[in-house]
Amino acid sequence: MNPQMLFWVPALLRMSLLLLFVGITGYFFGPAIAFGLGTAGFGLVVLVQLKYLYRLSGWLDDPDSEKLPDGWGAWTDVFSRLYRLRRDDEKNRTELGEWLTRFRQAMSLLPDGVVIMDDVLFLEWCNPAAERHLGLQNLRDKGMRVTNLIRSPDFMDYIILGRYEHPLTLTLRERKLIVQIIPFENRRQILVTHDATESERIDMMRRDFIANASHELRTPLTVINGFLEIASSQPNLDAQTRSAHLKLMTEQGHRMQNLVEDMLTLTRLESIEYPLRPERVAVKALLEQIMDEAKALSAGRHTITLSADGPDIKGGTEELRSAFGNLVSNAVRYTPEGGTIKISWKMSKSGPQFAVQDNGIGISPEHIARLTERFYRVDKGRSRETQGTGLGLAIVKHVLLRHDAILTIDSKPEQGSTFIVSFPITAAMADTFSAASDSVAAVG
Ligand code: ADP
Repeated sequence: MNPQMLFWVPALLRMSLLLLFVGITGYFFGPAIAFGLGTAGFGLVVLVQLKYLYRLSGWLDDPDSEKLPDGWGAWTDVFSRLYRLRRDDEKNRTELGEWLTRFRQAMSLLPDGVVIMDDVLFLEWCNPAAERHLGLQNLRDKGMRVTNLIRSPDFMDYIILGRYEHPLTLTLRERKLIVQIIPFENRRQILVTHDATESERIDMMRRDFIANASHELRTPLTVINGFLEIASSQPNLDAQTRSAHLKLMTEQGHRMQNLVEDMLTLTRLESIEYPLRPERVAVKALLEQIMDEAKALSAGRHTITLSADGPDIKGGTEELRSAFGNLVSNAVRYTPEGGTIKISWKMSKSGPQFAVQDNGIGISPEHIARLTERFYRVDKGRSRETQGTGLGLAIVKHVLLRHDAILTIDSKPEQGSTFIVSFPITAAMADTFSAASDSVAAVG
């Protein structure tokens, strides 16, 4: 039976019963008594309806607090249907509340900013990323016009032109932002912001690197091309000049080769495709080889010593050869003839420590923080003279990053420099560790 029938059938049945009762009373006791009883019966029915109407109106005033009354007759059905509606409504509200909480959480984790505005750009809501990017505060700025909050002429122009199909690049609060307005629904718009500061910085570094590398390669190439032109335009050059030219060309060829090799090393060190594969590194033996190479580079112009009683460590042998080798060859290259270079490897309290100390030209404090930047040189002429590529300390920095090690530079102009590499204690191989501690204690 449909709900309408459920309502009408019992109601009509009750009315019919009342009329039947009035009819029977009239037949037996006369019309006056029947009329009186009929009127009283209808009055009673009306009173009951009024009572439930009154309760319904009280409940409608505050549906949440009041318990729904129990009904009588057709009211039972009305109240039970209202009860079901209220239960469904509560369920929907709970679900909506949970969904809203999830939505807010997701929005607050989003790295991109989202601002919801009405059609005339009054702020309705924004997520924490938008607060950071644009300097907004959701609660404080709600209901304010976004153009009054984001004070940027470029943003104003973007709004005035209304070409929202293209994003706008904006510099705001020292950040590079990519912003775009997307209309949605009929009368709302979303402003999306993406922080491109970091990617812009990386892009700039890449551009600088390419410009620097091209510049570094151009010089030796120009020299080689110049001599090749001379050789082809003057075939009868005397043997002495020809061999001098060949010597200079070979030097420049080596310079290019060093540069390309250093660039490839740096690329490999930065690449996730070449993760460090730790192995046992016999540092003492490695440093002995490096010292021999340093002696060859110095060609007897310096006194070079090695004291190595530190432990073997876990790391990449070739990478450490490159890092330690660069630091030692720098000490040779930046120390005038007669100078002393001390290489040491020991176990300190905080972990294994490599150091190379020279009494060479030293470095002014303002340069120290920038030394590990690619192609950064204090004295360009001296670096080139000694076959420097300007990439040595950048390579050191990357190797140390991969070994969780730290580089400390202590230097004074005209007095010399000490480059210290500190490894974490966990890098030391346990079997050589205690022996090493003993020797440190013995030395100390
Ligand atoms: P380069 O190939 O020019 O030596 P590096 O990256 O190895 O490049 O070093 C960067 C700069 O740091 C050098 O150009 C030099 O000015 C300075 N430098 C590095 N090591 C020393 C040192 N031991 N003494 C003085 N200056 C140094």
